[in-house]
Amino acid sequence: MRRHPWLFEGSVARLDGRARPGDTVEVVSHDGRSLGRAAFSPHSQIRARMWSFEVDESIDDAFFKRRVAASVARRTTLPELRDQPGLRLIHGESDGLPGIIADRYGDTVVLALTSAGAEKWRGAIAAAVLKAAGCARIYERSDSEVRGLEGLAPAAGVLHGPPIDGALLITEQGLHLEVDVEAGHKTGFYLDQRENRRLCGELAGGRAVLNCFCYTGGFTLQALAGGATDALSIDSSGPALASAQRNLALNPQLDGTRAQWLEADVFSALRELRAGGRKFDLIVLDPPKFAPSAAHADRAARAYKDINLLGFRLLNPGGLLMSYSCSGGVGLELFQKIVAGAASDAGVDARILRRLGASADHPVGLAFPEGEYLKGLLCQVT
Ligand code: SAH
Repeated sequence: MRRHPWLFEGSVARLDGRARPGDTVEVVSHDGRSLGRAAFSPHSQIRARMWSFEVDESIDDAFFKRRVAASVARRTTLPELRDQPGLRLIHGESDGLPGIIADRYGDTVVLALTSAGAEKWRGAIAAAVLKAAGCARIYERSDSEVRGLEGLAPAAGVLHGPPIDGALLITEQGLHLEVDVEAGHKTGFYLDQRENRRLCGELAGGRAVLNCFCYTGGFTLQALAGGATDALSIDSSGPALASAQRNLALNPQLDGTRAQWLEADVFSALRELRAGGRKFDLIVLDPPKFAPSAAHADRAARAYKDINLLGFRLLNPGGLLMSYSCSGGVGLELFQKIVAGAASDAGVDARILRRLGASADHPVGLAFPEGEYLKGLLCQVT
């Protein structure tokens, strides 16, 4: 059997006995062999998520201690992950812990539980994280929409340690950033783009930068630190832009006069920039998830095409485009086709200099290709 962790509704022939949401069930093949243990989720199309493929492994407090400790320990393997104040400690299925996300911001770990099984074991998971991470506080941010598919209501609040008192602070690549774990996106910050923000800084020297979908300004700040001549950052969220400007102020070594912030819809803002004859040397396009699943791929493809086409048109000769998709429903091959189509329609000659992805604290289980949600292309026009 391939060790994919999901059992879909249609592949389950029958349930013997009774099981409530989140209960551990034994999974048995059609010919009666035990395949391991899983968390049962009667409301979800993903009817069960495998905890273990070892037929004798008990799912108990000790199981979570082992798995969480192993996940945290894996983060010391690669040098770029060592001593990172902002780090994903548990990346769900790809770390053998389906439905469980844990992000560390300094001495706080933010836990996001998105499956019925994870919900059931909240106490054991929090205790295991506390032990493995040695953090002062655990804050739960289980409010992702996918909880609804599992029949779970949103949950948020401190699970261990002192109450949250304002934004947390992390340092990334030498820059200070605030992280609002209570109201920010996801667990508060996009840790998956850490390496790409670093690359942006390395590429930005002497370039005029346009950062689209800037959120709290991570790419912008790295660009300024890397010597960008100026940086225009666009987001539709006022609170995100306010946070971005506070982040700029947290780093007085940066020349704030080079930064411009625009609260706008990127789709229309790019058109206006084009109408105004503006040009840039480095453009970042890091939009939100346009296609959560393959069912949305068509509409998403049009949206990606649109912004990439406009991006290519706004580049000076030799200009760079860092273009991303975090849509599970759009794979790398399709994304590359869309970007190629955009370049062609924009009438530019361009090439891929580098394929980009999430930082290594977001590993991809080889049995779980769905884990590779973030893909990016660094392109250069002639
Ligand atoms: N690059 C960021 C993360 C981007 S998240 C980082 O490194 O931290 C996507 C952002 O897109 C969010 O901040 C959201 O507010 C913004 N957004 C979503 N739709 C938008 C639109 N149509 N126009 C402008 N911004 C949008």
